[in-house]
Amino acid sequence: MISIKNDAQIEKMRAAGRLLHSVLEELRRYVKPGATTSFLNGIAHRMITDAGAKPSFLGYEGFPASLCTSVNDVVVHGIPNDEPLVEGDILGLDCGLVLDGWQADSAYTMGVGVISAEHKRLIDVTEECFWKGVSQMKPGRRLSDIGASVQAWAESNGYQPIRALCGHGIGREMHEDPEVPNYGKPGRGPRLAAGMTLAIEPMIAMGGYEVDTEGWRVATRDHSWVSHYEHTVLITRGEPEILTLPDAARAAEAGR
Ligand code: MG
Ligand code: MG
Repeated sequence: MISIKNDAQIEKMRAAGRLLHSVLEELRRYVKPGATTSFLNGIAHRMITDAGAKPSFLGYEGFPASLCTSVNDVVVHGIPNDEPLVEGDILGLDCGLVLDGWQADSAYTMGVGVISAEHKRLIDVTEECFWKGVSQMKPGRRLSDIGASVQAWAESNGYQPIRALCGHGIGREMHEDPEVPNYGKPGRGPRLAAGMTLAIEPMIAMGGYEVDTEGWRVATRDHSWVSHYEHTVLITRGEPEILTLPDAARAAEAGR
């Protein structure tokens, strides 16, 4: 069942989203050659707990960190470690928290120092895929319209959406119904309605979409590099609201 949030619940999810946005923005300052992902994890953990929130990834089915750090061909669920980042890497940072009982989940991928034009394009197209998916998040549209839009934009740019992993409903729990695939035919599945909150998270690979899982780490089978971009999004009667990207930040991001 897809839960519909009321105004008071949405206000709490907004607060969780704002906090998570501030954590992920702070991390951008520290992503550089020589930095370690365990250092980034420590910053995220401290910011979340200092704000009175709880990192939702830590201990989730035994996950050992508050931040997922996925480098290059790793799609998601990379565990922070003490290996220094290298100039030219691309790093996916995925974080979740629960504030006052309500969840937020968001991720982005960024270059470490100077990256190649082709990897920059991968990151940009992945973010565009997210916005294509969000453009379908209107009452009355069908769930699969989101993934169909993501897939169409990825493929028109020569990329593939990862199929083994999905976006998801989010609210009191990090993972609620429904699953939100990043591919598929339009016009299928439940109708979208105001008050639904979904984590939309395209994972886009330069090569094939097949993945291999080793412990937590999920990597592309052909080791092609992959980018991930995610926000927690509220469906309204008007434009969808990006709970993990407050308005002012969205304007700044558009100008970056
Ligand atoms: Mg996430
Ligand atoms: Mg998620």
